[in-house]
Amino acid sequence: MIIQSNPTKQCIACEKSIKGRTDKRFCNDYCRNSYNNQLKAPSNNLVRNINHTLSKNRRILESLIQESEQMARVKKDKLIQLGYRFRYNTHQYINPKGSVYYYCYDFGYIFLEKEWCLIIRAEQE
Ligand SMILES: [Zn+2]
Repeated sequence: MIIQSNPTKQCIACEKSIKGRTDKRFCNDYCRNSYNNQLKAPSNNLVRNINHTLSKNRRILESLIQESEQMARVKKDKLIQLGYRFRYNTHQYINPKGSVYYYCYDFGYIFLEKEWCLIIRAEQE
């Protein structure tokens, strides 16, 4: 490895040479911000995608329950058809019988027999 003695320091973001203090890594705040944002971008995208999937899931559940109803029986296929992604939920509730309710915010579902799901609207606390 060749260690270069670099008389003119370069900005990490735009690669222009930096004048002044030798401990500076960026030529200005704009370069520092854009560089740091770029570093954060992958995790920001991941969070955004998960949020998007969760709210889509919620919309699907909401669309399947009539406004006047607290629950609805739906075939699992119907959920898949609408693009529901079962891996994504916000929390779970296990009732005393050991059945698991999967929630997406204020809507949830439980698997019933023969590929049916029961979708429920959470009670307001
Ligand atoms: Zn720069």
